Amino acid sequence: MASVVVEDAELLLDLLNTRPIVNGVANDRLAGAAGGRWLGAHGLPDSPADAAAARRVRDAIAAVLRGRAGAETLQPLLAGVSRTPVVEPAGVRWELHTGPAEPFGVRCVLAWSRLAESLPGRLRPCANEECGLFLLDRSRANARLWCSMSACGNRLKARRHYRRVAGRAD
Ligand SMILES: [Zn+2]
Repeated sequence: MASVVVEDAELLLDLLNTRPIVNGVANDRLAGAAGGRWLGAHGLPDSPADAAAARRVRDAIAAVLRGRAGAETLQPLLAGVSRTPVVEPAGVRWELHTGPAEPFGVRCVLAWSRLAESLPGRLRPCANEECGLFLLDRSRANARLWCSMSACGNRLKARRHYRRVAGRAD
């Protein structure tokens, strides 16, 4: 069960990171043919409608994580979802029914919810505002700022250093 949770956390992080900003230009790796390829590579249905649905899920969760929308905006993604108790020899198992909701959206919102509970605040945007990516900080210190030190950390450190040096010269 734990491995499923980890997989969905990674799926959610991968999904959120399909909108990188590269050289100041926003990319969308779920747009066009690339969207189908991304979904296929993750073992998901890959029609244009599926890609459009994945973009909606991504943008909704990203807006919540960036503090631009309240968590309640994710409610429509779970419309009609229910759980039924099934009694088995080992105890009660809860069976999830997605009903009319998009199964991928349900999966992602539940992954977001589990992370919000088990690792609060650790799924967050990269501190580089020109990056567009997210990170999941699993470290004990929970002090990670960058999606990756090589891509964003070093670049911003260099820029700050340059500003300090330039400031001194004034
Ligand atoms: Zn970054």
